Amino acid sequence: MKKEKLEQTVSGGCYCGAIRFRSAKAPFTVSYCHCVDCRRATGAPVAVFAAFKDEDLTFSPNEGKQVTVNTGASRSFCPDCGSPLASRFDYLPGQTYVAIGIFDHPEAFAPKLHSYDSQRIDWLHIDDDLERLATTSRDKLNESSE
Ligand SMILES: [Zn+2]
Ligand SMILES: [Zn+2]
Repeated sequence: MKKEKLEQTVSGGCYCGAIRFRSAKAPFTVSYCHCVDCRRATGAPVAVFAAFKDEDLTFSPNEGKQVTVNTGASRSFCPDCGSPLASRFDYLPGQTYVAIGIFDHPEAFAPKLHSYDSQRIDWLHIDDDLERLATTSRDKLNESSE
């Protein structure tokens, strides 16, 4: 019984450990994003984001520093080490996206689709049968949040 409950808690934190997050619920979906913005924000050749409802997610002691470069997209980072923490997009209302690389157990949440495959780096080959959307997967993501 106890073990089951532990496994249901999702948690993670930034590189330096100053900021932690947790959720009592598993992400409602997980997606690769090959877009240039997510690449820059994460420093990785492709980002993988897990999607939560805003109210399910808690950052402690806070969410770090919010940065908006492009209108409609807000991202927060640890002010000490720079790890990406939360990303929110106006076209995905009520949802918060967290990079899978800061999860304590990323192995538990495999991606379900590829977003912005048209911007994928040519040398990056991911061999899977997941659906690949050339650009935004907003409809799919909004759908799976319901
Ligand atoms: Zn940090
Ligand atoms: Zn992206």
